[in-house]
Amino acid sequence: MEVLEWNSTDGCPSCRSALNYYLLCVWPGEYKDDPQSRYINERAHANIQKDGTYSVVPRIWGGVTNPQELRAIADVAEKYQVPTVKITGGQRIDLLDIKKQDLPKVWGDLNKAGFVSGHAYGKSLRTVKTCVGKEWCRFGTQDSTGLGIKTEKMTWGSWTPAKFKIAVSGCPRNCAEASIKDLGIVCVDSGYEIHVGGNGGIKVRVTDFLCKVETEAEVLEYTGAFMQLYREEARYLERTAHWIERVGLNYVKQRLVGDPKNRAALHGRFLLSQQTSQVDPWAERAAGLEKEQFEPLKLHSVG
Ligand code: SF4
Repeated sequence: MEVLEWNSTDGCPSCRSALNYYLLCVWPGEYKDDPQSRYINERAHANIQKDGTYSVVPRIWGGVTNPQELRAIADVAEKYQVPTVKITGGQRIDLLDIKKQDLPKVWGDLNKAGFVSGHAYGKSLRTVKTCVGKEWCRFGTQDSTGLGIKTEKMTWGSWTPAKFKIAVSGCPRNCAEASIKDLGIVCVDSGYEIHVGGNGGIKVRVTDFLCKVETEAEVLEYTGAFMQLYREEARYLERTAHWIERVGLNYVKQRLVGDPKNRAALHGRFLLSQQTSQVDPWAERAAGLEKEQFEPLKLHSVG
């Protein structure tokens, strides 16, 4: 703040959040995240709704669940009288209308059933959407669900300049909509196509083809390296679609496809940062961290 000669010591919400992000990116594990420099959803680890309540989305790896997990979510929904349970576009389950003071208890109950935060509120890895792939689908060429789960286990908890979505489709029919994700993997008979820079938002942008690889290990290396390049070089709040349009696909290809040493180094830095960022924020707060944030305001009468 001093070096940048900020006008006021507190800065503005945009500057504070951007600076917090850059420091976290450059010094993972050393810099201490400042919750006061985060937007409300990231501070509350849930999405605020129009009536002031919150929505809670547990992580469901690769969008694959089972009866025990569904039962645990149903138990939480009943216990906290959740009026609406919604399946999201990213293949997750959203519990709506949770009061702020109930969030740590809800998270604690979900933790007990094995869930961690789905980061549906974060400028971070959101979800890895998958199709059923070759195990079930007659058109499937590879294990898209298995690869989606591995990809999500590697990337969850990572902070990025803006939200980051991944999808894995088991064949070019593309049922997981990989072509409108920040990173989309399309399985083919001879391996995996990697596509980047898609966006299904206000201005739809179809991904650009980055490269084709033969093994899951290569997919994971490209995924980590691409995320790291994006998080190190994009501007805060810049989605991959806008970043790639600004720097050009050729630049990204040159850094990742044309330079294997650099790709391995980027992937290494991504994994290093993951060592300290894969901590479930829900578990920490269910155990009492930032307790005062979730306590209802005490109103005193005047006079
Ligand atoms: S993308 Fe292909 S493999 Fe996956 S469900 Fe659709 S048709 Fe089947």
